[in-house]
Amino acid sequence: MSITWPLRSGRRLTVLVFAATLGAAAAAGAAPGDWADRVAGEPGAFALLGDLEAGCLYSAGATAVGDARVPAGSWVKPFLAYALLACGKTDENETHLCEGWRDPLHRCWYGPGHGRLNLEQALAQSCNAWFQHVTPRLEPSLYQAIDAPFFPAGWSDASIVSAAAEEWQDTFIAGRLTARSLTFEAWSRALAALVLGRRVDWPAGPGVPGVRALVLGPPVGDSATLAVVRRGLQAAAAGGTAQELAQRFGSADLWVKTSSSQSPYGDAAGRRPDAVCMVAAFWPAGHPRAFIALFVPRGMAATTAAPLAGEVLRDFCRWRRMLP
Ligand SMILES: [Zn+2]
Repeated sequence: MSITWPLRSGRRLTVLVFAATLGAAAAAGAAPGDWADRVAGEPGAFALLGDLEAGCLYSAGATAVGDARVPAGSWVKPFLAYALLACGKTDENETHLCEGWRDPLHRCWYGPGHGRLNLEQALAQSCNAWFQHVTPRLEPSLYQAIDAPFFPAGWSDASIVSAAAEEWQDTFIAGRLTARSLTFEAWSRALAALVLGRRVDWPAGPGVPGVRALVLGPPVGDSATLAVVRRGLQAAAAGGTAQELAQRFGSADLWVKTSSSQSPYGDAAGRRPDAVCMVAAFWPAGHPRAFIALFVPRGMAATTAAPLAGEVLRDFCRWRRMLP
C-alpha cells in the first residue's frame, strides 16, 4: 500500500496534466489569438477584420500600415467599373481581347493574356487590358463625382490634381492610379461601402484596444449597378484571382477583390515596400456577415495575400462562432 499510493497518485497526476493539455489545445483552436497570430506571422502584414453582425472592427499586425498611404492598384477597378456603368460608358456585354504583357501599350499583369473577356471576367481576373480599353472614357472628375459617396468625407473636399485622361490612364497602367492616394484604412472603408452598398465607418475612440465600432450607415450607390460589379467580385472567388482564398476559407460564397502593385510611397516607418498586395473579402456573398481587408508587402496578391486572407477569415469567423 505504502508503495502503490505514490505510483497511483503519480499516474493520476499524469492523467490530469494530459487532460489539461488537451483542454488547452482544444481551447486554443477557437482562441482569439489564432487569426491575429496568423497575420502577425507574416512580416509586415496588417489586417482589418469586421464582424458586421456585432458591429465590431478588429485589427492585427503592424498597426502603422493602416495609416500609411498606399496605391489603390487593382482595388480601383471595382470603382472604375461602377463609374463606367453608372454613366453608361460600358455595359455587362462589352468584351475586349487581352493579349497579355507584350509592349508598353499591352501590359496586362498576366503575361500570356486572358483572351477575350467581359466586365465580370475582367473583374474576376483583374485584367489590366480590359480596363485599359475603357478607362480613357472616364474623366477623372467624373470618376470622382460618381464614386464620392463611397469615400470618406474629405475625398470631394480635397483639391483635385488636374490631369488629362491619358495622363491619368498612364498612371493607372503604371500601377499608380490613385486619382488620389489614400491610406490603407480609407481604401478598405471605401471598398466595403461599395461592396455593401452602405456608408461604412469605424471611428477611432476609447474602448478595448484593437477593437473599434463598425458603423453601417444609409444605403449608397445605385443597387442595380452595384449588383453588376458584385458579380465580378463573386467570380473572382469562384474562378479568378481569389480562387486560393476561397479554397483556404472553405467556400467560394464570397465577394473578393485582390490588388498587386508597386508602392510609390513610403510606409509610416519611412520604408518603401516594393510590393503592395491587398485583398478584401466579404462572406457570405449576398448578405455579408464578416469581412477581411489584408495588406501583405510581398509577392502577388493572388498567391501571397489571398491564401493568408482565406485562413485568417476562416479562423476569425470560427472565433465569432459564424462557422462550425
Ligand atoms: Zn488581362
